Amino acid sequence: MTTPDHSRGLLRWLWSRYLRRYKGTLALALLFMAIEGSMFGLLARMMKPMFDQLFAGGDAGLLTWVAVVIFAVFVVRAVASVLQKVLLTKLGQQTAADIRQDLLAHLMRLDLSFHTEHPPGVLIQRVEGDVAAINRVWTTIVTGAGRDVVALIALFSVALWVDWVWTLVALVGAPLLIAPGALLQRYVRRHARTARDLAARLSGRLSEVFQGVAPIKLNQLEAYQSDRYAELTEARVKTEVRTQFGAASVPGLIDIMSGIGFVGVLIYGGGEILSGAKTVGDFMAFFTAIGLAFEPLRRLGAISGVWQVAAAAVERIRELLAAEPSILSPAHPKPAPEGDLDVVFDNVTLAYGDTPVLRDVSFTAPAGRTTALVGASGAGKTTVFSALARLADPQEGAIRLGGTDIRELSLDDLRARLSMVSQEPALFDDSLRENITFGAEVDPARLQAALDAAHVTDFLPRLPDGLDSPVGPRGSSLSGGQRQRVAIARAILRDTPVLLLDEATSALDAQSEQVVQAALADLSKGRTTLVIAHRLSTIRDADQIIVMDQGQVVAVGTHDALLAEGGTYARLHALQFDV
Ligand code: ADP
Repeated sequence: MTTPDHSRGLLRWLWSRYLRRYKGTLALALLFMAIEGSMFGLLARMMKPMFDQLFAGGDAGLLTWVAVVIFAVFVVRAVASVLQKVLLTKLGQQTAADIRQDLLAHLMRLDLSFHTEHPPGVLIQRVEGDVAAINRVWTTIVTGAGRDVVALIALFSVALWVDWVWTLVALVGAPLLIAPGALLQRYVRRHARTARDLAARLSGRLSEVFQGVAPIKLNQLEAYQSDRYAELTEARVKTEVRTQFGAASVPGLIDIMSGIGFVGVLIYGGGEILSGAKTVGDFMAFFTAIGLAFEPLRRLGAISGVWQVAAAAVERIRELLAAEPSILSPAHPKPAPEGDLDVVFDNVTLAYGDTPVLRDVSFTAPAGRTTALVGASGAGKTTVFSALARLADPQEGAIRLGGTDIRELSLDDLRARLSMVSQEPALFDDSLRENITFGAEVDPARLQAALDAAHVTDFLPRLPDGLDSPVGPRGSSLSGGQRQRVAIARAILRDTPVLLLDEATSALDAQSEQVVQAALADLSKGRTTLVIAHRLSTIRDADQIIVMDQGQVVAVGTHDALLAEGGTYARLHALQFDV
């Protein structure tokens, strides 16, 4: 439920976490706003001498003076307005950048399971759209609070100076605003929250579509996807219109209130002027002041709407920032093991939610040797890797690296000892060089050696700019085999004692296959290698084979021993390699 306290809490949070550090800029912006706002008060105040002494009184000497002051009012207002806008934009953009930076850093820390539940598009919308909604608040609220409040004070001072009874009459409609205003706020907040959620779901949908364009075409799902998207966009149009209706109704109410006051003063004050109790100058000054007060009043009214929209976004962002990763480094990590490291799974049981994926898995991958994991798809091989890298933590059992329980190592130390070469290596839309070195300074001779060993050098001459050629989104301008060689080059440079390989299931062309295999064989020499094996040659050459079935280890041994034994391995072998 939306309460003023709740809103104040959100504002306080924004202030203490993001705004406070820019309080100098904010103060300066407020100063210029105050200057801008007060100028209209001066303008209204000038109406009285202009009408009473200049026009009615015929004091011609005053003309230049009034003209100069009025012109100065506009110039000062213009300069102050530009300066405050620039300062506010800087403030708004800078805080938005800070929030985005914090969000990104935080989201990358969260567990993989969080990311399974929150698809990328949704998170992108939170980082981009929700932060933009907050950003609008600075410009509106702070502008309102600064310039418009000062303008109102100045203008109402002039009005009071002319006649305090008139001022009261002008405000008779004000109490009518309170109850509908509060209702409207609640209405706006509710719809704004729905609108933010819809925006997030829409970008979630978009990112799914763009990442899966090929399957959409192949399954002729264009119309289906369009329809699903249209449903959401229609809902969004409706909610946005409702939000705007609510937000615009507050200034609307203020207009009606102003109309009531205006007519009241006209009837009451008109009589006083006709009877000679007041001058035309009084009347002009008063109406200029009240007339000029309309705009700032309406804008202040609109602020509540903008704030409700922003508050909905702030709530969502705070929810994200409140999510804590469950996979963390221990408070007092043990020193990382050095040298050749063996990997031990000791009665490991791991479930994703209620789905058990690894059941009582035990094995030892000896240091410096190659252990092949084989088993049907879904047997849990990839999960063995995830558990070792602590992308997911087991519920029972322990995993040891070089004799140390991996939960006692810092995540950084643990992951610095592992390299992963996967079927579909992740490449980023950057140059080939960036994709291999990740911005680190690498000794050119060492880089060259890695490129040679990974056979990246073989295809470099065919790229337009060699190492500086862009690889395209997700590496799309490289072939599958080339992408794998890039991943191998990365692993060579990482030079870790433990290597995790996920062999490609999809066949590369024969030549690429050979090159990649040779590079992988070189890479795994002397390292503790765990390989999810799909190729017969890899399995044959492995020092040890672990056969998995439905999350369990069903057999361990060498190729020949396991074949002789019969059982799952022999069946799998016959199925997979058609021998
Ligand atoms: P493999 O690599 O042997 O094909 P995986 O380790 O990828 O098998 O998956 C084992 C099982 O775990 C599968 O049944 C899969 O559906 C399930 N699984 C994998 N990842 C997740 C996840 N993030 N959430 C829920 N279930 C998962």
